Amino acid sequence: MSSQTLGLAPQLQQYLLEFGVREPEVLGRLRIRTAPLPDARMQISPEHGQFFRLLLPLIGAIRCLEIGVFTGYSTLATALAIPSHGTITACDISREWTDIGREFWREAGVEQKIDLRLGPALETLDRLIADGAADSYDFAFIDADKENYAGYYDRAFRLVRPGGLIAIDNTLWSGQVANPDDQDPSTVAIRQFNQLVAADTRVEISMLPLGDGVTLARKL
Ligand code: SAH
Ligand code: CA
Repeated sequence: MSSQTLGLAPQLQQYLLEFGVREPEVLGRLRIRTAPLPDARMQISPEHGQFFRLLLPLIGAIRCLEIGVFTGYSTLATALAIPSHGTITACDISREWTDIGREFWREAGVEQKIDLRLGPALETLDRLIADGAADSYDFAFIDADKENYAGYYDRAFRLVRPGGLIAIDNTLWSGQVANPDDQDPSTVAIRQFNQLVAADTRVEISMLPLGDGVTLARKL
C-alpha cells in the first residue's frame, strides 16, 4: 500500500532512497521493528516521512492531528519535525500496535509531544470538536480505515484552522482507484472520497504520486 512509491522501478526506488531520503536512525529502527508484522505495508514510506520533515517546518506546524497511528512511524516522523512545544493528537483503535510506537517515541525523546487517544477516531474527533478544538490545528494527517475517510475529512476540516493543511494518505490506492473493475469497498470509498475532495471549493488541493498517493488540502 505505501511502503514505497507507486510505479517506480526497483532500481529507481533505490536511487530515490539513496539520494532523496535522510531517515533518522530511530525511524529506521522502527521500520525494522515493524517489518515482520503482517500489516507492515500500512506504514508510510521513508520518502513520505522525508516529505513531512520538509513540509511541517515549512508550514510552521505546531498543533497536529493524526488519524491512524499503527506502530507510530508517521507519528514519530511528525513529532521529530515539529518544535519542542509542538503536539500531536494521535488517534487509533489498536493498543497492541501503538504500544510499539510508544517505545520508539520514548526512545526518541518526543513522547511528551504525543497525546494518544485510543478508540474509534470518529468519536475522538467529535469529542475534540465538542470540547472547543475547532479551527485550532495546523496540520492533520488522515491514514486510518478507508471507509471512514469522508467522515475523517469532514471532522479534520473543522478542526484545522483556516490556512491549515490536511494530508490524506493512500488516495491512489495502488492504482486501483483508476480501475473501474475494482469494486472492493475500500477502493470504492477512496474513489468517492477523491471525487468529494476534487469538488470541494473550500480547499486548495494537490494530489501527489508519493508513496501510495498523498492528497494535500489547504483550508481556505
Ligand atoms: N500512519 C501509520 C499507518 C496507519 S495504518 C504509519 O505510518 O505507520 C491504519 C491504522 O488505522 C491502523 O493502525 C488501525 O488500527 C487504525 N484504524 C482502523 N480503524 C480505525 C478507527 N475506526 N479508528 C481509529 N483508528 C482506526
Ligand atoms: Ca497509509
